[in-house]
Amino acid sequence: MLVRSSGSLDRRAFFQGAAAAGLTIAAGGPGTAQAADPVQRPSALAITRVETFPLIHKLPRAEGPSTAMSAMRDTLLVKISTDSGLHGWGETADVGGTRGIIEDHLRPLLLGKNPLNHRKLWRELWGANFGDGRAVAAIDIALHDLRGKALGMSVAELYGGRLRDSVPVYAAAMNYKEGLDPETQFPAEAAALAKRGFRAMKVRTGRFDMRRDLAVLAKIRETVGPNIRLLTDGNGAFTLPQAVRFGKELEKLDFYFFEEPLPQGLNYAGYDELTRSLDIAVAGGEVLDSRSSARDHIVKRSFDVIQPDPTLCGGIGEVLFIAEMARLFSVQCLPHCFAGAIANAATLQLLSLLPPFTFGYSSDEPMLEYDVNENPFRDELVRDPLVLENGRFHIPTGPGLGIEINEEVVGKYRTKSNS
Ligand SMILES: [Mg+2]
Repeated sequence: MLVRSSGSLDRRAFFQGAAAAGLTIAAGGPGTAQAADPVQRPSALAITRVETFPLIHKLPRAEGPSTAMSAMRDTLLVKISTDSGLHGWGETADVGGTRGIIEDHLRPLLLGKNPLNHRKLWRELWGANFGDGRAVAAIDIALHDLRGKALGMSVAELYGGRLRDSVPVYAAAMNYKEGLDPETQFPAEAAALAKRGFRAMKVRTGRFDMRRDLAVLAKIRETVGPNIRLLTDGNGAFTLPQAVRFGKELEKLDFYFFEEPLPQGLNYAGYDELTRSLDIAVAGGEVLDSRSSARDHIVKRSFDVIQPDPTLCGGIGEVLFIAEMARLFSVQCLPHCFAGAIANAATLQLLSLLPPFTFGYSSDEPMLEYDVNENPFRDELVRDPLVLENGRFHIPTGPGLGIEINEEVVGKYRTKSNS
């Protein structure tokens, strides 16, 4: 039976109310309804500059997931400026020539164009053959930021308004660190995060033999107790049989999900079989580049939790589309997020638009993945860093992404060869 809220307006009541409120209602066509105090729409706006800023920060000690180590953090920012003085910021990873694609191929498509024609520009950026998901993502986020600022609306408002004011956060933490044993490092880090107010946290796993890694995870569970949500990321260190055995042990330790234990890649080979073999949720998809690559994995259920990243997978609109597509197949979408303040802000706006996973009163909400490792691009870059409150972040309400970038800090970390 169709259930209808007693509070909803029927068609006649809506038109009567609209007339009383002084709204002009025309039959179709542009400007169908105009509020008494409309947002002033900029009459002319043209993109004048598209700049890229590769940022690098050297770490005092190399760290990383189970399968790699690095003594450096890096990210790529994009700034789109207009003749009105308004500008927007985007972020992505400079992998495989992303910066060159933005500068040589996408910038010429944007210069002189009106950023309010976002949808048209977005189609042109992709081109006819599903172009580069990272390059398009950075531009798409900057266009969202710019368009929101031009119209005086947050990104969430551009999509019709947010569904929540804050989101739960999980700390992406516990990297392996050079010269430290995870047996002592990880439980101590988990305890410190719990003390800071994080109610969910993710730990790297898969570097050592299975018994050693499992003992570390068991120690973390023992340290934080049963009420902290634990997640783990294998970063491609396992074979399929190893991942099945390991995943069954994670079930006993009450982990929330097991992320990407098998080698990554757009084909995510074997993940569908792994997902069918385990009760624990299998998460994956951070390297997906578009709705096209996400589609097959949703249909064949490669993951219980799909993790497209708005900075790597075509931008905010593309990941929103993927999240809706996943929902049709009862696959949870928890976007990947592991970069700087712009990535966090874009993901927060996106998360504000995603409904709870079910209609149940205790349904899980989407969580923000929040990198808590040493990363100056997270806190230094913005004038108002995010503040954890009851394990959650408030979603910024200002225009665009709702953040203000400190350009002095951009200059501080910009690589010298590119300044
Ligand atoms: Mg991961």
